[in-house]
Amino acid sequence: MSFAKALPPPDAPRIVRQAACSCGSLQASVQGEALRISICHCLACQRRTGSVFGMQARFARSDVSIQGAWRSWRRIGDSGSAIDFHFCPLCSATLFYICEEQPEVIAIPVGAFADPDFPPPRVSVYEERKHAWVGLPPEIERES
Ligand SMILES: [Zn+2]
Ligand SMILES: [Zn+2]
Repeated sequence: MSFAKALPPPDAPRIVRQAACSCGSLQASVQGEALRISICHCLACQRRTGSVFGMQARFARSDVSIQGAWRSWRRIGDSGSAIDFHFCPLCSATLFYICEEQPEVIAIPVGAFADPDFPPPRVSVYEERKHAWVGLPPEIERES
């Protein structure tokens, strides 16, 4: 039997994960499990990440603490609302971002955790921009 897969008791301490930029000078410490884990295939996410999709986990702002300096830039999404991307001034990796419409939530690129055991995505967004070869978990929810 695998103890690693057993559910934690209700009073168990919440998991803490660390995310970091490429150079490590900007870090986020995150408590508890994500509210939402999604993959976005949109072209803006492709450009921002340099990969063919973005994957992010959203957390309650009160569960995230940020250490280090950052700069930010604002992109207006297709819905017309702003997203502020925060990145390391030294290595330029984006470590977190906040949508104007959901200021109480912080999104962190899943790659920043550098953790192959991070839970898989539950939602897939913008599939009309998806590279044809990209495969996803069969039970994933799809949003346009
Ligand atoms: Zn950095
Ligand atoms: Zn996107």
